[in-house]
Amino acid sequence: MTQNFDIAVFEGDGIGPEIMRPTVKILAAMAQSSGYSLSFNTVPAGAAHYAETGESLPAASMAAAKSADAILLSAMGLPSVRYEDGTEISPQIDLRKALTLFAGVRPVRIFPGQKTPLNIPEGREVDFVLIRESTEGLFYTQGTGEVTEDDARETLRITRDISEKLFKFAFGLAAERKSKGRGPGKVTCVDKANVFRAFAFFRDIFDAEAARHPDLRADHAYVDATALWMVQKPWDFDVMVTENMFGDILSDLGAGLMGGLGVAPSADIGLDNAVFQPCHGSAPDIAGQGKANPMAMILSGAMMLDWLGTRHNNDAITRDGARLQAAVEQVIADGTVLTPDLGGAAQTEDIGAAVLAQLGHV
Ligand code: NAD
Repeated sequence: MTQNFDIAVFEGDGIGPEIMRPTVKILAAMAQSSGYSLSFNTVPAGAAHYAETGESLPAASMAAAKSADAILLSAMGLPSVRYEDGTEISPQIDLRKALTLFAGVRPVRIFPGQKTPLNIPEGREVDFVLIRESTEGLFYTQGTGEVTEDDARETLRITRDISEKLFKFAFGLAAERKSKGRGPGKVTCVDKANVFRAFAFFRDIFDAEAARHPDLRADHAYVDATALWMVQKPWDFDVMVTENMFGDILSDLGAGLMGGLGVAPSADIGLDNAVFQPCHGSAPDIAGQGKANPMAMILSGAMMLDWLGTRHNNDAITRDGARLQAAVEQVIADGTVLTPDLGGAAQTEDIGAAVLAQLGHV
């Protein structure tokens, strides 16, 4: 019997719907030819929806996300639409908290033809994964920080429960990558344990998990040095795991190393649910112009296939995840169909067509 998976789709704001369209088209075509089926259920949320209705993430959309097999989300938020306290509408962060999606997975991979600002020495390969804790840390008081006329306070919170899950996930990923020949099986805990007690606590929990994996390597790095080393010797990293705000910042640095946000995918993974979305935002400066690069969204779709296939023991889906990633990488390597952010003149839809052609769907 054909295995079916329900996918909740948040098209979001700005370039969101533009990059989601080719992604869904590609995923649907792959499913059809590989013998499984994906049912896409588009649900409303985001800044434009808030401006229209006063609701940023309707309960029905949240329920659809929760019961789906996976969630595809493009970017949400618009700088011009804000709550009364001055903060932006960001349902993607609400989803992470509500569904306890503690592991924000941000792969940083530089492949031939990519517009990296780095000079990578012969024989070196940049292929590491940054895991950003995504439910607590300095985002814990998001929207509820105390602000008076003269004083503003936010709280950084790190719990044992989430940290244990996070580190277990990180070592699991390092083991999986090692088994696929993708890395040496090393996890680096990125913190600021030299200054903050909360990070010494974070590091102790990391060390306890590391001790359970004698077959894997574990080390530590301070976040400031990590920023330096990501530029100077990024090939030394395999899996790195860090707090929410540190991860937020370092993942944009990772995207910069990859040649821009347009090619940086991500996943926010919990025990029961997962959201797949590009690292970038809604890019209002280029919305509606057909210039948006959909590759980060498409690569996030590839991560979704990999996650679904592994979770449901469906090799056809896992294979499609790898095929889709390879197809995007090939389009970049060919260099003829690229959007302006990568130095080309192609439109969003052209990239979708090029990826489909690469997959043999013309
Ligand atoms: P942004 O990521 O939207 O844009 C930064 C720059 O990168 C812009 O110049 C933009 O044109 C470019 N860019 C981003 N994605 C691109 C793509 N796919 N193709 C080509 N160029 C691309 O960041 P911002 O401008 O700081 O934020 C815009 C809005 O997005 C804000 O409202 C912000 O809150 C929101 N945001 C949402 C998310 C999310 O949904 N996860 C993440 C970050 C920002």
